[in-house]
Amino acid sequence: MDIQTIMVIGAGQMGGGIAQVAAQSGYKVFLNDVSLELVDKGLGGIEKNLSRSVAKERISEAEKQAILERITAAVELDPAAGCQLVIEAVVENMEIKARVFEELDRLAPKQAILASNTSSLPITRIAACTKRPDRVIGMHFMNPVPVMKLVEVINGLETAPEVTAAILETVEKMGKTAVECKDVPGFVSNRVLMVMLNEALWELYEGVASAEGIDAIMKLGMNHPMGPLALADLIGLDTVLAILNVLLEGYGDPKYRPSPLLKSYVQAGRLGRKTGKGVYDYS
Ligand code: NAD
Repeated sequence: MDIQTIMVIGAGQMGGGIAQVAAQSGYKVFLNDVSLELVDKGLGGIEKNLSRSVAKERISEAEKQAILERITAAVELDPAAGCQLVIEAVVENMEIKARVFEELDRLAPKQAILASNTSSLPITRIAACTKRPDRVIGMHFMNPVPVMKLVEVINGLETAPEVTAAILETVEKMGKTAVECKDVPGFVSNRVLMVMLNEALWELYEGVASAEGIDAIMKLGMNHPMGPLALADLIGLDTVLAILNVLLEGYGDPKYRPSPLLKSYVQAGRLGRKTGKGVYDYS
C-alpha cells in the first residue's frame, strides 16, 4: 500500500510529535484538533522543536521550512478523504475516540488505514466502531515522539495482515522500531509501566518519602533516566489515571487501583507538565 498523505487527529503532545515525525519522513500531513487555536498550539510546538534541531545543526533552516510546509492545519475531519492513513491521538477516552472513528470511517477512502495511538484502550473495540475493522490498528508512539525509538504495533482481532505490513513499513520509514503485540489492556508497555508509576503515587500518598526522594531512589538505584513521578507528569496525570482505569476494568485486579492522590491531582486540574503543575510545579 502506498502511503503518501497522513492525517493526525489531536494536536496535543502526542499528535504534534507524530505530525512532526511524519512530515520529517517526507509524508504530507494534515494536523487536526477541535479548534484552530489548539492546532496552532501544536504547530507552535513543532516549530520550536525544529528550531532547536536547526540550532544544534541537525537540520538546515531550509529543511525546517520544508517540513513545516508539509503540514496543513485542519479543524474539520474532511481532509481524511484524501489520506491513505489516519492516526488518531485524541484524549484517552473511549466515547470520544468512538465518535472520531465513526466519523473517520464515513470520510476516509474505503482502503485507508485508521490507526489509534491509544495507550491502553482495546483496538478491537475501537475497530468495532467502524465498518472496516480489518483496516484498524494500534500505533502506540512513545513520548516525546521525535526522541523515542519505539512504536508498539497492536493488532486487533480483525486487523488484516497487509494492514500490519503497511504499518510496519511506515514505522520504519519514520526511522522508528516497531514491535508487535496482542490487543490486551495496556498492551505490553503500559501494563508494566503504570504499575510502577501508580506505586510511586501510592508511596507519595502514604508519605513514605518526598516526591524528590522517590524519584531520586528510582533514578540512582535503578538507573532509570527519570523518576516515576516526573515521568507521570510528562505523560500527563489525566492519561495515567485513564490508563489505570482501563487496566483495572480490563483485568479486574485491584493491583491497578489508582492512588487517591492521583485522582485528587486530576480533579484539581494538575495534569503535569502540560498544565504547568502536577506532582511538581513547572511554573
Ligand atoms: P493531550 O491532552 O496532550 O492532547 C489531546 C488532544 O486531543 C488535545 O489537544 C485535545 O484538544 C484533542 N482532542 C480532544 N477531542 C478531540 C476530537 N474529538 N477531535 C480532535 N482532537 C481532539 O494528550 P496526549 O498526551 O497527546 O495523548 C493523546 C493520546 O495519546 C491518548 O490516547 C494517550 O493515551 C496517547 N498516548 C499518550 C502518551 C503520553 O505519554 N502522553 C504516550 C503514548 C500514547
